[in-house]
Amino acid sequence: MTGPLLEVENLRTTFVTDQETIRAVDGVSFSVAPRHTLGLVGESGSGKSVTARSILGLIDDPGRIHPDSAIRYHRPAFVQRIAREYPDRVRWVDGDGDADRDGSHDGNAFVTIEAGDGEGTSLTVDRGSVDLVAAPENVVQSVRGGEIAMVFQDALGSLNPVYTVGNQLRELLGIHRGLRGGAATEAAAELLESVGIPDPKRRLKEYPHQFSGGMQQRATIALALACDPSVLLCDEPTTALDVTIQAQILELLARLQRERDLSIVFITHDMGVIAQIADSVAVMYAGEVVERASVGRLFDHPKHPYTQGLLRSIPGLTGEVDRLPTIEGSVPTPNEPPTDCRYAPRCPKAFDECKMIHPEHVPAEEPAGSEGTGADGTDGTEGTHVDETDGTAERSEDAAERTGDAAEHTVACLLYPDAEPLEERLRTHRQRGDLGTAPDAAGADAADGDATEGER
Ligand code: SF4
Repeated sequence: MTGPLLEVENLRTTFVTDQETIRAVDGVSFSVAPRHTLGLVGESGSGKSVTARSILGLIDDPGRIHPDSAIRYHRPAFVQRIAREYPDRVRWVDGDGDADRDGSHDGNAFVTIEAGDGEGTSLTVDRGSVDLVAAPENVVQSVRGGEIAMVFQDALGSLNPVYTVGNQLRELLGIHRGLRGGAATEAAAELLESVGIPDPKRRLKEYPHQFSGGMQQRATIALALACDPSVLLCDEPTTALDVTIQAQILELLARLQRERDLSIVFITHDMGVIAQIADSVAVMYAGEVVERASVGRLFDHPKHPYTQGLLRSIPGLTGEVDRLPTIEGSVPTPNEPPTDCRYAPRCPKAFDECKMIHPEHVPAEEPAGSEGTGADGTDGTEGTHVDETDGTAERSEDAAERTGDAAEHTVACLLYPDAEPLEERLRTHRQRGDLGTAPDAAGADAADGDATEGER
């Protein structure tokens, strides 16, 4: 297939209590191509994990996903199956996204078909999507585990302590692949072997506490793979592991991606891990994505002051220093619709307008191959070059070929587009905000109030 496998557009997830509204994810957009790894990076509290849980519909009360958000899943065979099951909830569109058939049910549609032939059981889908925000819960359930699976940081907490690893794998293989008895045991052993667990038939009979930390994480990856997903959401899966085991798990994920054509969303606070595993990166801060780029562009030409700060704090990338620079302060809890730059209180480059205008995403003005000059007159790259001998640059170029995302380096900061004078830049950001590229106050109010139809 061409185009993205998973698309998140203007995702807003809020937690509403009597005391406050927390806008944990506030207008986040990104896409993931087939066989591509997107790194979601940011400090604790930036909204990374809530983004992943929103994709899987794992937001519990008092959390709500705003109905104007979209989480589109594009695997053609899945879209085709759901379109056949829900023919009256399909919206037919042409290549430009305009409705092109009479009887196209826009009002309650959650399946969009962009090109296809036939209807009913003869329907074939080349391009289309299922919107997981608007879809009924049973459709979301069939995506969860069956199409998109998640690997958590707390491997031991993800495993049931009172069942053997084999029992847990066999149960999932029964649910998702209909395997029972000896066939399920064979498939479970193959899964353990595929994630690098030696002597798998013996290990199937062991309980999670009998596995080391690294082996527990391998077992949770095996559980995630039991349903043969197309997308793996990895939420800090290596954070609790020492660096040697961390490197092994990253290698394992890269191998599994190649063997199984997986798309991966990898969540971490660690830019070093991003350099090793990601093809492209979305940097999150206080519920928003503040910079998006291929991994090579981000490390070689970071634009947002927050990204530059994160990169400066990586040991080994800043050269010989007595003490690594840190970003003073902490991530604020976003309670109000954004009317300013949420990073301003910590930003070394903040100026007066940063407290009055919300920065929108603009091109980082960094065509491939150019040296680039930052708005502050520097290129922002000193000491941040990725070691290209580790294959990161090659992986990034492969990804760019597949997704064209090398051209999509965008940044949400009033210093850009840096070719424009200040007044013009500020006008650009104001206009983009007025056009609704960011969450607007009216929409935010709806999100803060009672749940409406379509909210999850
Ligand atoms: S908009 Fe202003 S405060 Fe925000 S990152 Fe850019 S320079 Fe810093």
